[in-house]
Amino acid sequence: MSRVLIIGAGGVSGVVVAKCCQNPEVFEEICIASRTKSKCDDMKERFGGGKTKITTAQLDADNVEEIVALINDYKPEMVINVALPYQDLTIMDACLETGVHYLDTANYEPPEVPKFEYKWQWAYREKFEKAGLTAILGCGFDPGVTGVFSAYALKHYFDEIHYIDILDANGGDHGYPFATNFNPEINIREITSNGRYWQEGEWVETEPLEIKRVFDFDQVGEKDAYLLYHEELESLAMNMPGIKRIRFFMTFSQKYITHLNVLQNVGMTSIEPIEIEGKMIQPIHFLKAVLPDPASLGPRTVGKTNIGCIYQGVKDGKPVSYYVYNVCDHQACYKEVGSQAISYTTGVPAMIGAKMLIEGKWKKPGVYNVEEFDPDPFMEELNKQGLPWHENFNPTLVD
Ligand code: NDP
Repeated sequence: MSRVLIIGAGGVSGVVVAKCCQNPEVFEEICIASRTKSKCDDMKERFGGGKTKITTAQLDADNVEEIVALINDYKPEMVINVALPYQDLTIMDACLETGVHYLDTANYEPPEVPKFEYKWQWAYREKFEKAGLTAILGCGFDPGVTGVFSAYALKHYFDEIHYIDILDANGGDHGYPFATNFNPEINIREITSNGRYWQEGEWVETEPLEIKRVFDFDQVGEKDAYLLYHEELESLAMNMPGIKRIRFFMTFSQKYITHLNVLQNVGMTSIEPIEIEGKMIQPIHFLKAVLPDPASLGPRTVGKTNIGCIYQGVKDGKPVSYYVYNVCDHQACYKEVGSQAISYTTGVPAMIGAKMLIEGKWKKPGVYNVEEFDPDPFMEELNKQGLPWHENFNPTLVD
């Protein structure tokens, strides 16, 4: 019997809960725990009543002792962390203390420094190994499925992959002048940071959104795609033997960029606390409070996402190119689980990763990125669980 603790009750968590309930033979009991318990109770209301037994709890996941107490009380086999990246280390510490496995969808970022890196979580490798526990890092779509796609490409089509372009397009329209599709703070910090890509053994840094290309995405159409630093670049640069270059592109409309520029120019995206009416506040926290809640975008968003990876390399001495991607329809996601496609494409892989761990297919003591596991059972599940993938054997890299 499996019992899983899900921490966080936002947009992604809603999809994880819905999908766990669709797989009750694996997820017999789940507990949703988060800062605001009413959000956990709402989810229980929305998705409960089936075979999976749902309980809820109030939890401050910045506090290791609180997490330890909840885990000791609930006794889950593993924790799915879909709170925010700031909670990764406290939750990993609590998992180690209580002997339960761990999975997340975003790497640790110190709240006061907008710099996400795996080094903090990779530092837990030996501890998890010694404890006989598995920690799966970055198991959403990007990072997550992009790493699984890479392991699959390497296993089946290449001897060596030399070039990877990861392409993330959102052709969705929610009708608001400006909103972010997932947590605004994390999203804006990611986009307003310098761009970076890996080339010939070193990082090449760019100004934020300096490199723009136009790409024609299947079922989404032509979009402006901007080069960003994204966390899977760090692990893939390490785990793909022979890699010469790896880049990440994400699409944004001109309208989005214009709003972001204005917000940045007036200081609203800053994380430097300022004093307002005797209270210290980070402007970006205020901005988050006035922007639409990403979890509320579901009913309004129409259009599709297309996320995938183009690979170039060699097999048996001959050049090979390969493109694998998923197309996801915002409204279809909303009809199925009540969320837009960004939360859906993150929550479904998180549930699949947990299923892999519970079924023992992705269980090995230590801390791992997804490309370090066998991709085949995960790829099969993507097709079954709502994220089917498509292949193109004659693509060209972004020029
Ligand atoms: P939301 O902001 O919608 O949800 C975050 C949830 O975590 C909220 O319920 C929040 O509580 C809760 N939370 C925050 N701090 C604490 C705390 N200290 N203790 C307990 N609970 C806390 O975010 P999303 O659902 O959009 O994103 C969830 C995660 O998924 C993020 O880490 C994000 O970076 C990641 N992500 C990964 C992607 C991928 O492809 N790999 C893509 C998109 C997102 P409250 O309700 O009280 O605010």
